[in-house]
Amino acid sequence: MRLNLVLISMIAEIANNYMKIFSTIVDIRAFLKNAKLKGQRIGFVPTMGALHEGHLSLVRASLQNADITVVSIFVNPTQFGPAEDFEKYQRDLQRDSALCESVGVDIIFAPAVDEMYQPGHSVMIDESVLSRNLCGRARDGHFSGVLTVVAKLFNIVQPDIVFFGQKDAQQVRVIEQMIIDFDYDVEMSVVPTVRDTDGLALSSRNLYLTAEQRAWAPVIYESLQKAKLLYAEGITDVLVLRKTVEPVLLGDGVEIDYVEFVSWQTMEPVEKAGDDTLLAVAVRVGETRLIDNVFLQSIA
Ligand code: AMP
Repeated sequence: MRLNLVLISMIAEIANNYMKIFSTIVDIRAFLKNAKLKGQRIGFVPTMGALHEGHLSLVRASLQNADITVVSIFVNPTQFGPAEDFEKYQRDLQRDSALCESVGVDIIFAPAVDEMYQPGHSVMIDESVLSRNLCGRARDGHFSGVLTVVAKLFNIVQPDIVFFGQKDAQQVRVIEQMIIDFDYDVEMSVVPTVRDTDGLALSSRNLYLTAEQRAWAPVIYESLQKAKLLYAEGITDVLVLRKTVEPVLLGDGVEIDYVEFVSWQTMEPVEKAGDDTLLAVAVRVGETRLIDNVFLQSIA
């Protein structure tokens, strides 16, 4: 009898060490409630899947800072415009799960669209200051979709610490503000942008690039580096800095969406660059929209 009990608890322990995949809110809530009762610290990495090393660096940060790491994989329809790539966005849960398991993720939350947005869903979060510029200007409703889904995910997972990538700098800033404004009791950790060896920021959308477009794409980071170098030499006039960035980005089939120097705090354009100035760019390469950014003062 006692041996049976020992065996059962060993099996339960082993089963607990395997990564779990939940697709319903009820199930993940029940599991995490237990973890919370045990006093475990929950780390959360929201993603849309098509995972790469950039996502995995967020996961690794969570593994180091939390007892349980939850990764959500959800291609959120409300953050895509009608002419955007919602349909063609890569969805491969098997591949993403294998990657997550290989680095030690504890839980994947991969809900269907109608699990997250029940019939009759009508309330959305709207941010109207920080999301006015940059991607907010080109992608109407994008940040409302992002904030709404992130708020829902925070409410479902109730994490202690959340991880976002600097790659999506404006997203970081609007979520940071939502955490403050909506009193979320959560710590936010921002992870540096992971790049390919040639400097291109890793992105799920790099998959769309043709070989020729991919060969061109490293100039995005080169253009940012040029501005940083000038800033380090003492040039702070944004008109001058902009003139070093834009020509580097010119190319066949390339359209500059924006090259903006903004204050990190307000996301408003500045005329004189300072240590809190974010240089953010977005370009369209054929059908594909790529973004990148740097802080002018940082070394990397
Ligand atoms: P996504 O799946 O594109 O919504 O991204 C999920 C999270 O991964 C966001 O917090 C992104 O900022 C982050 N992320 C995406 N690409 C990178 C990258 N190259 N380096 C660091 N974080 C990234």
